Amino acid sequence: MRQIILFKLGEVALKGQNRRRFEKLLLDGVKRACAPFGSFHAYIAQSTGYVEPQDDTADVPGAYGACKKVFGISTICLAALCGKDMDEIYRTADEFLGPRLSELRTFKVEAKRADKQFPLRSPEICAEVGGHLLDAFPHLRVDVHRPDAIVYVEIRDRYACIHELAEKGEGGMPTGSGGRGMLLISGGIDSPVAGYMLARRGVVLNAVHFFSYPYTSERARDKVISLLKKVAQYSGRIHLHVVPFTEIQERMREKIDEEYFTLVMRAFMMKIADRVAKETNCGALITGESLGQVASQTMEALAVTNSFCTLPVLRPVVGMDKEDIVRIARRIDTFETSILPYEDCCTVFTPRHPKTKPQLGAVLRQLEKLDVEALIERAVGGIEWQMIEP
Ligand code: ATP
Ligand code: MG
Repeated sequence: MRQIILFKLGEVALKGQNRRRFEKLLLDGVKRACAPFGSFHAYIAQSTGYVEPQDDTADVPGAYGACKKVFGISTICLAALCGKDMDEIYRTADEFLGPRLSELRTFKVEAKRADKQFPLRSPEICAEVGGHLLDAFPHLRVDVHRPDAIVYVEIRDRYACIHELAEKGEGGMPTGSGGRGMLLISGGIDSPVAGYMLARRGVVLNAVHFFSYPYTSERARDKVISLLKKVAQYSGRIHLHVVPFTEIQERMREKIDEEYFTLVMRAFMMKIADRVAKETNCGALITGESLGQVASQTMEALAVTNSFCTLPVLRPVVGMDKEDIVRIARRIDTFETSILPYEDCCTVFTPRHPKTKPQLGAVLRQLEKLDVEALIERAVGGIEWQMIEP
């Protein structure tokens, strides 16, 4: 039985003037997702997306799984194809929906006739297919108000298709419609979720990771790469910049008062991320900060952090409880990787009594003890980058 993928547009369907651009980005996302599974033709007609395999070698269930992670799709399903002939439609419905219909008690049929040459009109198609299914599955009844399932029959130009709605798609906005952002990724639970959440709003991700070898091991860096691979299944490929952070942290340990350690470290992170972001055409920084979670995430500390960068800082998890963040991390399958025990650079030098209500002036006086520009210059000069593919 030949199958195709059908999907409904999410928010894209609400766009006016720009709708064509959003649709194109959505189709680009669908094509990227399906490419590893064979040759497909994807298009949108009347707010429905169609993904048709071009030959028998295409892996339709594989492509379906990948499309479920494409942003901009509200609902999605597999549909069975057949010729535009009522007997063939009956046979296909029995075979494709039989197992499911056996479990249900009530159904109704909805028909759509894109091919106006087809001899039966939509209400007639509904009546005929409904009658056939009642005969074929005698335990079923028709319920037009609250059916357990709706059987959709669609007569298109080149074929008929049959399906039952539908799973939830990933929602959000098509990748590329929301600009480009620089994700500061640690290895923890929050930052991969933050990246996913903004990717879901159409943002293309770059990433920056501050790496303190040998205080943190190669495995900490591998962990970040594994996390980004998972996020990339949704966002598409991610350009990762690994910034050597060891020298900065060693100079800090010599010169900075312990209670300011985290704040000064965050100042360096923001300055460097801001610079790399601008050099790579990003319009914003993205972090996994959540209000009140740790000392450096009080409102006063976030204000200090913000003053070390010029781009807007997007913090999609700022108002979320840890529990809510963990739920998303589990769903996108980053959680188990995030909780692997490899230390990151923030945990290596953690002050015992961090400042929770810092003054910007006091942080600036700490920074005066260091040759900030030279340290940043060397760190940026040592950046290693790599492309993370899903
Ligand atoms: P996460 O769970 O993302 O590690 P967190 O709650 O542990 O976050 P912090 O360690 O204070 O919080 O870090 C706050 C944010 O700063 C992180 O969400 C991340 O965006 C960024 N960040 C922290 N450490 C690094 C790092 N080594 N490289 C890049 N960004 C980092
Ligand atoms: Mg962390």
